[in-house]
Amino acid sequence: MLFELAIAGWNLEKDVFGTEKNGELRCHIYSENPELNAVIKTITGKYMALSATICEICGSEGKKREEDSWETTLCLNHYLERKPVINIDNGLNIKLKNKIILNIREIAKAEADHDLQTLWLFRNEESSDKMEADCFSWQQPNYYLLLKTIPLYLFPEDQQQGIFDLFEHLEGCEICGNRSVYRKWCLRCHHEPWNESKINLEGYQDKSEYIKYCQMDRFLDEDDYEKYFKHDISFERVKDHKILFNHHDLREYEKLHF
Ligand SMILES: [Zn+2]
Ligand SMILES: [Zn+2]
Repeated sequence: MLFELAIAGWNLEKDVFGTEKNGELRCHIYSENPELNAVIKTITGKYMALSATICEICGSEGKKREEDSWETTLCLNHYLERKPVINIDNGLNIKLKNKIILNIREIAKAEADHDLQTLWLFRNEESSDKMEADCFSWQQPNYYLLLKTIPLYLFPEDQQQGIFDLFEHLEGCEICGNRSVYRKWCLRCHHEPWNESKINLEGYQDKSEYIKYCQMDRFLDEDDYEKYFKHDISFERVKDHKILFNHHDLREYEKLHF
């Protein structure tokens, strides 16, 4: 970019101010010369668009990713490298990105939020400050495995039943093939099972078409969610799960959507 700016007539002895915003490179330079200014705008605009497709760490092909509500542009490897995956080893150590966070035997008490999507684990029974606890979220692979592994008696009494019910009443998901549907929502692929709502009846011929489209979405994995959740073993597999799309369907679907 600097090279192109120099050719356009920008004096490189002057600083070029640039910032990163929403995962893009934004340059703020201005010339008194209106003609040069127009050229500068074209050049910086081009590189701003380009920067949204290049990993900001390694320069490989990337795309915009949201991370803790920040937007960054990363390749798949650097994106996955940053994303925490929960693991529990045979010694009951809870690991995040392979680093031991704490051992399940050390937990003095546990707490979950009301929809069970966030979990706090305390080492100290007296503590009620969530800042002192280790916090986990359903957006991390193996979160539900962790929730299931923590002994129920460590949770407040009014939460124990809810957690027990969740794992007791899981139903099979015809979209992703896991036993992960709870209260008409899949905890693993985040799709709703088919229902005869107005939107569904207008948008799809029938149930099998709905499932087929959801399966293709999942397979194409535009936001790399499935790649991130590849090692999630929170849920059992459904035995006779069927894939409803074929190669031809997928090509037609891609043509329509991408
Ligand atoms: Zn990269
Ligand atoms: Zn599912």
